[in-house]
Amino acid sequence: MQIIVQKFGGTSLATEERRAQVAAKVLEAVQEGYSPVVVVSAIGRSGDPYATDTFLNMVKGIYSDLPKRELDLLMSCGEVISGTVLVSTLSKLGMKAVLMTGGQAGIITNNDFGDARIVRVEPAEILGQLAEGNVVVVTGFQGVTESGQVTTLGRGGSDTTASALGVALEAEAIDIYTDVEGIMTADPRIVENARILDTVTYNEICNLAYQGAKVIHPRAVEIAMQRNIPLRIKSTFSEAPGTLVTNIHPNREVGTDITFDRIIAGIAHTANVTQLKILTADESNKHLTDKRIFKAMALADISVDFISVQPEAVLYTVSNDIAAKAVEILENMDFKPEIVPSCAKVSIVGAGIAGVPGVMADMVEALSDAGVTILQSADSHTTIWVLVHQTDMVTAIQALHKKFKLDI
Ligand code: ADP
Ligand code: MG
Repeated sequence: MQIIVQKFGGTSLATEERRAQVAAKVLEAVQEGYSPVVVVSAIGRSGDPYATDTFLNMVKGIYSDLPKRELDLLMSCGEVISGTVLVSTLSKLGMKAVLMTGGQAGIITNNDFGDARIVRVEPAEILGQLAEGNVVVVTGFQGVTESGQVTTLGRGGSDTTASALGVALEAEAIDIYTDVEGIMTADPRIVENARILDTVTYNEICNLAYQGAKVIHPRAVEIAMQRNIPLRIKSTFSEAPGTLVTNIHPNREVGTDITFDRIIAGIAHTANVTQLKILTADESNKHLTDKRIFKAMALADISVDFISVQPEAVLYTVSNDIAAKAVEILENMDFKPEIVPSCAKVSIVGAGIAGVPGVMADMVEALSDAGVTILQSADSHTTIWVLVHQTDMVTAIQALHKKFKLDI
């Protein structure tokens, strides 16, 4: 049995016309001799009748302390609805299809309601259904704990479901179908002439995803990478080949030592962050102070990013919506943080960055020519990050896209 996992996002499932296009992709896989396992997200976005956010908004104003366990039960409904509707479309087209919830599909998670991790997959039920010739539709974004409690996997969780199933079922490929024709050099909503990438490495897409390119969830990439299962990002609405994610760099031929033509694969961004700077030069015990600051953030469950510990200061960013809480904690500790509200982190990512001199120089030149102030920067062997004012974000991304010739 040659299994293929096909994941369809919310926009692909929104109307019966689109679901017919989804069904056509499933039928194509069947005709090619594959046994498809189809993972679905909930239909639509916030405000749409069956979207997960819509369900959450229904209870939000009533009782603010509803336990996470109950919230997860509510949040798991969207995929049950989209899955049922898709099964009916598949059946109408003559395919034999069954729907399974995450629990029925054997997806076992930890107890972290709202952001659960998959601990293992028991694929026997799915394999049984496939053996009987059924297309198996699985509700994405959810699983069950060892004791059978329904959990959800956090934002982008359906991608994670697809990858976990791909690994557990030793699938030939994991196809992530969405509303763009592949992974692009930047978010097409910001850069008009962003280009589709034919191939990217797991590492590049993982970094792009962690830095905000929400086309695929980074955890999903990590899972597929562990077993080297080919991951493809494709459009539900076209025949374009999409982007293939593998561990082979497109400019490196196996066994040769050629230099990389492509230094940068793409640009990602994360908006709505606040930079906090705490001057610590006057502290008698600087080490202890640094530790106290980060301990206090951790205790309050505030996740920090872009950390820079310097001899005279500690800098880091938090998301805008928890900035006030972070500041309050710092003030209660007698610090007077300097605050730069509404910043954005812009990242250039490429397996070719390592060892190529001048990339940072080009980045600084592009940004300063465009009149963008760099508030902070950092780098690794595959990524360079800069923090800019959010009002400069679009200008910065467009200037970098041009500078690194990503549109050609
Ligand atoms: P789905 O509902 O199918 O999961 P998502 O909205 O999660 O879809 O992801 C697809 C969207 O990701 C695209 O419509 C696009 O606007 C956005 N996106 C952001 N960065 C990129 C990128 N580098 N390449 C492609 N799409 C991107
Ligand atoms: Mg998505």
